[in-house]
Amino acid sequence: MTDDAVLVVGAGPVGVLNALGLARAGVPVTVLDRAPGVNWSPRAAIYHWAALDGLDRLGVFDQAAARGFLKQDYEYRAYRTGERVRFGLDSLDGLVDRPYNLHLGQGALVQLALDELAGYGTARVLWEHSVVGLVQDDTGVTVTAQTPAGTETFRAAWAIGADGASSAVRKALGLPFEGFTWPERFVATNIHYPFAEHGFTQSTFIVDDVHGAVIAKLDDTGGTGLWRYTYCESQDLPEEGVLDRMPRFHEAVLPTPDEVEVAEWAPYRMHQRVAPRFREGRVLLAGDAAHVTNPSGGLGLTGGLFDTFVLQEALAAVVHGTADESVLDAYSRERRRVFVEMVDPAATAIKRMIFHSADPEQLERDMAGLRRLASDRDALVERLMATKRMETPSLVAAR
Ligand SMILES: Cc1cc2nc3c(=O)[nH]c(=O)nc-3n(C[C@H](O)[C@H](O)[C@H](O)COP(=O)(O)OP(=O)(O)OC[C@H]3O[C@@H](n4cnc5c(N)ncnc54)[C@H](O)[C@@H]3O)c2cc1C
Repeated sequence: MTDDAVLVVGAGPVGVLNALGLARAGVPVTVLDRAPGVNWSPRAAIYHWAALDGLDRLGVFDQAAARGFLKQDYEYRAYRTGERVRFGLDSLDGLVDRPYNLHLGQGALVQLALDELAGYGTARVLWEHSVVGLVQDDTGVTVTAQTPAGTETFRAAWAIGADGASSAVRKALGLPFEGFTWPERFVATNIHYPFAEHGFTQSTFIVDDVHGAVIAKLDDTGGTGLWRYTYCESQDLPEEGVLDRMPRFHEAVLPTPDEVEVAEWAPYRMHQRVAPRFREGRVLLAGDAAHVTNPSGGLGLTGGLFDTFVLQEALAAVVHGTADESVLDAYSRERRRVFVEMVDPAATAIKRMIFHSADPEQLERDMAGLRRLASDRDALVERLMATKRMETPSLVAAR
């Protein structure tokens, strides 16, 4: 049994960045993860401009920008009509410090945060530690983990459950995960293909009820660069047939499908779910453990990052005795409110537009809205600012 100020369960981006913030604030922290190392499967790739200031405050923005790249352009293509609408984040030039999105694989973000964390003697990350139990009392939290050396217990004053959508921490707290699971399967493919030669912007949305797709450049490797191509299909189709069906999706959209080289792919179930509260005594939930959304608008991890920016700061202040525990209730209340009122409806609306635009009249209304954004800078700025409103201002500085 070891004793730390904070135990973090989960070494995904939310767990590791919370640990990094705590370590920087002088709070001893241990991170437990059931995996043998960083998860490199194709998941988050795009970080909205509004999340970049927070990454900078955590001291990882410069490395993240150096490993990934910054981009401003968007294009929406209506598959059935061929119409294309383009606009860019350059409309934010002069209005915000970072008027661009960051493209970077989620695994790379975790790796660079781990590299930073390794510089703190008061922080450690223990892989192959699968949390199977959690109890708490008035002074702390005791976590049980299965490890290659057998069952071990860890004790800390506080714990953060950042162990993803199927969170063992949330289950140990007895909290339900209210919401629903979508009937579609998302298939994320990382492919090499000369998108730029064929006129694709670095973020392109194909709007269609069959061939809808989100396309985003990930890096410059392999001559063409590596790109993420995500489409969706019915969850009723057998998962073992995904690879056989995959060429049909690429062929429908890409002019020279023979050039597609699939580097990686993964199928995902999608959900809209949220825990009833993000604090239970001495345990906090953050990221996918607290709320999950379909990833059409790139808002899943964005929400987890916004949790992180306020949680690690508030918890460090509580540990140091400079803030009252009530800031943690404010964390729970505010971050849940933002998910329910903003993230959940926005991500649901984006999924409907991109992947379910079968009705021609609805498609025309959607494209008219996009045309307006392309021609009316004020309207575009207003839309882009919506992501910033999903961020919670510091809960400590406000007191
Ligand atoms: C195809 C796809 C594309 C996406 N694209 C984007 C995007 O562009 N932008 C965006 O913002 N979001 C995106 N998302 C969402 C994003 O991937 C998630 O929101 C993000 O992974 C959440 O991070 P997390 O750290 O909360 O959880 P996770 O990344 O799930 O990490 C949880 C960690 O906990 C560990 N763990 C689980 N159970 C235990 C246990 N019992 N004991 C110990 N450790 C445990 C796991 O091993 C894992 O390392 C996408 C998701 C998908 C599926």
